[in-house]
Amino acid sequence: MSSNRKVMILPGDGIGKEVMAANLQLIDWLAKHKSLNFDISEDEVGGAAYDKYGTPLADETLADAMASDAVLFGAVGGPQYDDLAFELKPERGLLALRKEMELFANLRPAMVFPELVEASTLKPEVVSGLDIMILRELTGGSYFAEPRGIEELADGTKKGFDTNLYTTGEIERIGRVGMDLARKRNGHLMSVEKSNVMHSGVLWREVMTALHAAEGEGITLGHMYADNCAMQLVRNPKQFDVIVTDNLFGDLLSDCAAMLTGSLGMLPSASLGATDPATGMRKAMYEPVHGSAPDIAGQNLANPLAQFLSFSMMLRYSFDQGAEADLVEKAVGMALGSGKRTGDIMAPGCEQVGTDGMTKAVLDALDSLTR
Ligand code: NAD
Repeated sequence: MSSNRKVMILPGDGIGKEVMAANLQLIDWLAKHKSLNFDISEDEVGGAAYDKYGTPLADETLADAMASDAVLFGAVGGPQYDDLAFELKPERGLLALRKEMELFANLRPAMVFPELVEASTLKPEVVSGLDIMILRELTGGSYFAEPRGIEELADGTKKGFDTNLYTTGEIERIGRVGMDLARKRNGHLMSVEKSNVMHSGVLWREVMTALHAAEGEGITLGHMYADNCAMQLVRNPKQFDVIVTDNLFGDLLSDCAAMLTGSLGMLPSASLGATDPATGMRKAMYEPVHGSAPDIAGQNLANPLAQFLSFSMMLRYSFDQGAEADLVEKAVGMALGSGKRTGDIMAPGCEQVGTDGMTKAVLDALDSLTR
């Protein structure tokens, strides 16, 4: 059925193909049972695109992605591509998409399903019921700002340097995404920087404070130094709702928060761009945090739940389908509650299933939730 929700599907390589095939079954279920339809196009990216087009991201694929309301991405990479020139490596396809779509806001939720509390290395009482969101600025700061480089000094030794630079506009646009997220969640935003020792941090705090005063009605804004935030994340992560931070601190803090949940196969992400004034939509890409897992690819071993949860983020953030997103997340919880587990999250007393078994468990849960 036709729809005005244009979604581009890029399964990629390895288990990306398997978890995306599973995701398509969920999409079919929603079309059949909830009359929720998408106008879907599909193409290759990464190694599979190199095999087909001789490049990890063909121009037509990029044009299609740019014209979509959302891109649903699997994973890229594989040892057979290790010897390719740098610009032809599968990961370049992913980075080119992020760059061309100007995806400046990276959302990484860290959510602990009660059934998986034991998978965390932290005590159950610290992580049970955890549901926080790390928002990382993705296109500025010390990974991109100039000047950067390695230069020779007069004495023949070298200096390596990067610049942590943020403008008012860059801080405001990520701050607005943070406030939007907080508004859709519990209304608490924690801005994280190091204004005690960094000028970029002083400006970050100033701009966030002014933005909150001007546009943050109904939201509480807190400030925390990044080093303290890292400690607080492992001491008492449930004190947070949404954390907004820069590229470098976000890289570290989102990985730290991810591991509170204990499993790579459960972690979704979203990357958002600017809102198009004509349509009111943001450019957006949704993808699991994990890679193409060549060690288990093609063996029906991949956990599809990170992909499903990325899809539920797409429903929530690109299409405002919060009820359907809740339904998918509830079905994932029920599937786990039924004792079915893929190998990566296997626990004593549970039944080990493959990608297909886990997908069926989620589809069965969807059936029973809507019966
Ligand atoms: P990986 O995430 O692919 O795998 C790490 C480990 O976790 C492996 O043992 C794998 O079997 C396991 N694992 C990952 N996802 C799983 C899932 N859904 N279910 C069950 N087990 C899962 O990381 P890696 O091994 O470092 O990288 C493999 C390839 O993926 C490399 O080419 C790398 O560059 C690429 N990669 C791509 C992305 C991406 O596309 N976003 C991210 C990370 C790595």
